[in-house]
Amino acid sequence: MVRGKMKAAVYRGPSRLTIEEVEIPQIGEGEILVRVRAALICGTDLKTYLRGHRLVKPPSPFGHEFAGEVAATGRGITRFPEGMSVVAVNSAPCNVCFFCKRGQHNLCEDIFFNWGAFAEYIRVPARVVEQNVHPIPEGLSYKEAALVEPLACVVRGSEAAGIELGDSVAIAGGTGPIGLMHLQLAFHRGAKEVIAIGLRDERWAVAEELGVSHLIDAGSEDPVERVLELTEGRGADVVIESAGLPQVWEMALKLVRKGGTVVFFGGCPSGSKITLDTHRVHYDELTIKGSFHHTPRAVKKALDLLAFGVVRAKPLITHELPLERLEEALLMMKEGRAVKVAILP
Ligand SMILES: [Zn+2]
Ligand SMILES: [Zn+2]
Repeated sequence: MVRGKMKAAVYRGPSRLTIEEVEIPQIGEGEILVRVRAALICGTDLKTYLRGHRLVKPPSPFGHEFAGEVAATGRGITRFPEGMSVVAVNSAPCNVCFFCKRGQHNLCEDIFFNWGAFAEYIRVPARVVEQNVHPIPEGLSYKEAALVEPLACVVRGSEAAGIELGDSVAIAGGTGPIGLMHLQLAFHRGAKEVIAIGLRDERWAVAEELGVSHLIDAGSEDPVERVLELTEGRGADVVIESAGLPQVWEMALKLVRKGGTVVFFGGCPSGSKITLDTHRVHYDELTIKGSFHHTPRAVKKALDLLAFGVVRAKPLITHELPLERLEEALLMMKEGRAVKVAILP
């Protein structure tokens, strides 16, 4: 058991965050306590910070992408001895509900989120320990391993996109961390080109480093016109929306070719509605798919993709800051000055 106080971020409502001394969480049977070595800021964290989150009731622990060392183990833990370097994701399915039984674990009716990664220690609940904790493969740093959670979501989105050899893939929100992971997987799946649409900011250079074929600045160019120009007037074979904005969802439907696929990956503010051209969907036979969250299978795949270097984490983690500067780090991401920031408690 580890007892005493620790530093931790406490979410106190939109745009209100404090760093406080709190009790180190105590663990029970089947649980582990992890000494956090790196925690990454996710788009979900940023959205929660700016406008709240239906599942985060302030005051609340904060942050969910992390890796570290096992600091203590509850009764029954044998696979993760103290001192082992591990990575864990933020949830795990129940395996007994209707959706779990259909293999749609990401839609589990009893899904929960484990917050509290922006702290010196985090408690990992038994269900996550059983299904979604992994030793960190050799060669991966803590901050690289912590990318496994968002990448697991991207793995599912990329599978839904069904990218084939030689496809043109357009990614709206293409210069954010999620877009840049989609970009890497699209090339790996055999896309001949990846067109990224975003705002021209400091993240532009990272997209270039990762081999993006074309960058479209949504701030000064018309993305629909440019994508049609780049695809002989047809539109992209596959379009992935990862901005999470209703106007970008509508735009995504104009970027895709007849018979193509659109994946809505970015979650919009709740209550958002879009209009869609029924003619386009019917006569042009569009395939439209949503993609949300991850499954234990996708988590394992994501870790393998990181371990084998198929997805490079390093270029995406552009900054590192101590826990005390968490708010500053959130603003850096909001303003596009960082792709992803690692918080080192
Ligand atoms: Zn995340
Ligand atoms: Zn379930």
